[in-house]
Amino acid sequence: MAHCNENFLNLQGAYLFEKIRKKQELYKAGNPEAQIISLGIGDVTQPLIPAVVEAMTKAVSEMGVKETFRGYGPEQGYVFLRKAIVENDFKKRGCNIDIDEIFVSDGAKCDIGNIQEIFSIKDTVAVSDPVYPVYVDSNVMAGRSGKFVNSGFSKIEYLECFEECDFKSLLPSHDPMLIYICSPNNPTGATLNKKELKLWVKYAKQTGSVILFDSAYEAFITEDNIPHSIYEVEGAEEVAIEFRSYSKTAGFTGVRCGYTVVPKALKLETIKGEKVSANELWHRRQSSKYNGCSYIVQRGAEAIYSEEGKKQIQQTLDIYKKNSNTILNGIKAIGLNASGGVNSPYIWVSVPCGMNSWEFFDFLLEKAQVVCTPGAGFGPCGEGYIRLTAFNTPEKTEEAMNRLKSVLNCRG
Ligand SMILES: *Cc1c(COP(=O)(O)O)cnc(C)c1O
Repeated sequence: MAHCNENFLNLQGAYLFEKIRKKQELYKAGNPEAQIISLGIGDVTQPLIPAVVEAMTKAVSEMGVKETFRGYGPEQGYVFLRKAIVENDFKKRGCNIDIDEIFVSDGAKCDIGNIQEIFSIKDTVAVSDPVYPVYVDSNVMAGRSGKFVNSGFSKIEYLECFEECDFKSLLPSHDPMLIYICSPNNPTGATLNKKELKLWVKYAKQTGSVILFDSAYEAFITEDNIPHSIYEVEGAEEVAIEFRSYSKTAGFTGVRCGYTVVPKALKLETIKGEKVSANELWHRRQSSKYNGCSYIVQRGAEAIYSEEGKKQIQQTLDIYKKNSNTILNGIKAIGLNASGGVNSPYIWVSVPCGMNSWEFFDFLLEKAQVVCTPGAGFGPCGEGYIRLTAFNTPEKTEEAMNRLKSVLNCRG
């Protein structure tokens, strides 16, 4: 009999959103007439913008004609898209990123999960607490985590984020080699400003660590002093890999497209003390295990950067922005504490009435038929909080907040 990968046995619990879905289904089965509103799962609701639909429709037609049919594309992504990315996402923000440093993929989650393959199994990992589960689970499967003891993995350094520090962690104390940073943050909605990000880059340079920077939510940034890319910090190209996604920006959660930036200046060390290019390792990894995102989808992504596309995307983002305000105002009216929601579609809310975060989840589901995400699902420091998302429709978001107001008459 073949043997299982024992690392998988270290994974904790069911995937958070499966657990939520099961609870939701169970409630629905007992209350078939209930109109549940989800402010839980981070999925979008607004349809694709017309510019994207047009570009993808055209691309489909091209694929049906002999002269314009395309088979396997370039592994790193088509040049037309990588050029648009470099121009719009980096040059315009003063970041010196080259098209050879962009790797287009079918979304950020797989890149974030796969990137750890280019690093030594001995390299230690630091994540924030609370945290997006993919950073931890991918390293557990790889065998980098150690055993789960009490509330965390023995070999992972958890950087605790407390309300008193606006949910921003201190620098690590054990000099981990791989540091995952998500800004704007999922789940807390906290964002690092330029000064804070500079500190992380400086730390990485001093310790030789690599920052894995997840900016899936950069399009939601509204304040001026918040960098959209880590490469806005000078020298970051020597120490950071950045992940981007069109999922939340352009409603691509089902379409699937994102990209990863692996700068050529980023070097990793061999056991012999020689230096190898992270860009070359990732290129090799992708061309061995991945065959690229479809031509049709890449044409759709390119259209996001057209003048029309940009305008239309902004309209969609404005809808989510409005929802964030609805939620923030509603939470304030109830008298609860909340943060996030300003540069992020996530609002991080303190749980009232002495409940824990799963109890509050059950309470909201049963009393208001509103689904949230319990903070405890993101790590021990998430206990005592829930996450609400601005991704539902304005009508349902308003309805959900009205329901919350009517069932929450205690003061947190
Ligand atoms: C949604 C999300 C992503 C993007 O995932 P895709 O695979 O591109 O859909 C990446 N990071 C975080 C923190 C997210 O919440």
